[in-house]
Amino acid sequence: MRLRCAGRTVLDLLLPPRCAMCDNTVEVQGQVCARCFSQINFITEPLCVRCGVPFASAGQGGAEGLCVACRAHPPLFRQARGALRYDEPGRRLILPLKHADRIELAQILAPIMLRAGEVLLQRADALVPVPLHRRRLFHRKYNQAAVLAHAVGRLARRPVLADALVRTRQTQSLDTKSPEERVREVAGSLAVRGSRAGQITGRTILLIDDVMTSGATANACAVALLEAGAAAVDVLVAARVPDPRLR
Ligand SMILES: [Zn+2]
Ligand SMILES: [Zn+2]
Repeated sequence: MRLRCAGRTVLDLLLPPRCAMCDNTVEVQGQVCARCFSQINFITEPLCVRCGVPFASAGQGGAEGLCVACRAHPPLFRQARGALRYDEPGRRLILPLKHADRIELAQILAPIMLRAGEVLLQRADALVPVPLHRRRLFHRKYNQAAVLAHAVGRLARRPVLADALVRTRQTQSLDTKSPEERVREVAGSLAVRGSRAGQITGRTILLIDDVMTSGATANACAVALLEAGAAAVDVLVAARVPDPRLR
């Protein structure tokens, strides 16, 4: 790590630092230029009080402030919040963190997540990242959700239980699946590590992930944490896929 940092400093002297989202030069490596920052679509109200999905208008949630998905199938987590929309600019921030070893992007995302999840962080006893299956972890080398959990945990001064959840079987990619197929695919694929159960029981857990689509994975994690005795589970993600029904 130290070598890598030293290498980067030498590199910074030779090449000007570039924006994390485009080719513009910035002052410090890992920053986003002003133009790209203005393109990020932060999630603001109105949104579903339960799952945090953004609404196009305040009336969409009805009297209870709930989205169609939460009304039809209330999630097992208590509340979820996302920092930004997973649209084209959102993908330019998230995908390199996931697939291109751009761990420094977590330093940009963490303060934004801190703002979006202020209430959830205040009541959280510990942060738990959504795990990768060990085979996927081997190929990617790191879990982007754990990288985000550590960055957010540092800012919010909350402990991170990075290995509390484990994938008990490898699931197929959910990218092309319908919400119902996603629920079936992830059901029962997550569990709390036996040695961590004592740190989960009776605690309010804040689950951390990079992207939330239908919430199927977050819900399956909540099931595992609640079965292990968690008092409540909230969810904080960097980016949220808008529900196409809410345009
Ligand atoms: Zn830029
Ligand atoms: Zn909802």
